[in-house]
Amino acid sequence: MPVHNSVLEEVQYQVDKYLANNKDALACSCQQCRDDVIALAASQLPSRYTTTPTGRALIGVELQSKQVQLDIFQAILTAIAKVNQSPRHNPNRVVQV
Ligand SMILES: [Zn+2]
Repeated sequence: MPVHNSVLEEVQYQVDKYLANNKDALACSCQQCRDDVIALAASQLPSRYTTTPTGRALIGVELQSKQVQLDIFQAILTAIAKVNQSPRHNPNRVVQV
């Protein structure tokens, strides 16, 4: 079974959900900018890696706590603001987090 970063999976899910409900939040809707938001947000949060279904389930419960959801939401908003300030969707530039 591969290693999962549960926080990253949660951030991806939350970013998709947030941008679906707030279509104007991100100035550019290309995949690169969306990926940048996910990468920036996830890098602000502590990573939680799991290798077993049980571990994933336990962290899944932890990620649903109000404080963690708030931290993830704040990280996403910060990441969106950063990407809006300086979009990096030039395909010749490597994304640095
Ligand atoms: Zn873009």
